[in-house]
Amino acid sequence: MTPFVPLPSGSPLRPWGDQALPLLAQPASYVACSWDLRAAPDRLAYWLGLFRRHFPSLLEETIAEAVDRGENRDDARHRADECSRKFESYLQSLAEQPGRYGRLDILEICFVREEILREANFPDPYRLAKHRENEAALRLLPSLLAQLDAMPEADLPRRLIEGIFAGNIFDLGATQTAELFERGKTVDFHQVRSKLPPRPWLIDCLDAWLRWIARPNPCRAALVFVDNAGSDIVLGMIPFVRDLLRRGANVIVAVNAFPSLNDVTIDELKSLFDQVVKVDEPLASALREGRLELVSSGNGAPLIDLSHVSRELADACRRLPIDLVVIEGMGRAIESNLHAIFTCPAMKIAMVKDKGVADALGGKVYDLVMRLAEV
Ligand code: MG
Repeated sequence: MTPFVPLPSGSPLRPWGDQALPLLAQPASYVACSWDLRAAPDRLAYWLGLFRRHFPSLLEETIAEAVDRGENRDDARHRADECSRKFESYLQSLAEQPGRYGRLDILEICFVREEILREANFPDPYRLAKHRENEAALRLLPSLLAQLDAMPEADLPRRLIEGIFAGNIFDLGATQTAELFERGKTVDFHQVRSKLPPRPWLIDCLDAWLRWIARPNPCRAALVFVDNAGSDIVLGMIPFVRDLLRRGANVIVAVNAFPSLNDVTIDELKSLFDQVVKVDEPLASALREGRLELVSSGNGAPLIDLSHVSRELADACRRLPIDLVVIEGMGRAIESNLHAIFTCPAMKIAMVKDKGVADALGGKVYDLVMRLAEV
């Protein structure tokens, strides 16, 4: 079989932005994904196995999505089988020669996977799953916001953080959590939030955050990178962003330009807000007045390389006095940016949903990570 050769960066199928995030403290030495898999055979074997195990369920979603768009099922399956052969050939080539295409990390493998799917005209395999979860989460949003508004002020910041963890369970890229959502199943947000692991969490900076956020006018502007659609954006991140706005901050919400797994895209975020503004006046007025901006990060992967973001995002960061960066989700916050250093305080927050990530951090699946770096 002819080995699959990934496209070089800069190819139109690789939707990388061309700007470094201006808030990186050390742009010259910044590397997204500090785990170079060439130098770690056990880790490489783990990740190759995980990508292999996950791909068949991704392809089933892909076929269902294509049929929903009106494609013939046999044609879609034929193309999906071809994707499977290509991806397997690529993974096998890495197993034989990890350095074959240069530096090797999880982000690179994700890009090749997305590239194979896009090339086969499967641009958004999880479109149906994202839509289903967005609709379910939107139904819960008004009562959740009412509950949060009725809480004692002192309890609110912690509850919002717990909401981010609970929402982040909607992750179809991690095999553990993907099973929870198989065949239309869903997960109860309130139940997940009530059963989060007790503190101290695996990385636990909550006390520092509670002090930071309780100061008068804690930040002038915040940049918030969001991970997934569904409960993640709607029930976890939107209430958190709304609270930052209430405290006087301008907020930029940055999400993927292009679909990847079940990550929320900029187009989906804008449609979500078309509905959110009908049920929540504070968010509606923030959006109307430009205090809340919805921006494409330029990214098209479940992890993010902050040395390649969109010009739109880079310009927004230069325009506003950003003094808080929040990176949410396992791929962005842990796998690609746990060690990234910023020019302002930065929070990295995620639920751990993968054994390889848990092992690398000395924890276990469903552990919670909330790191706050104060500059
Ligand atoms: Mg994701």
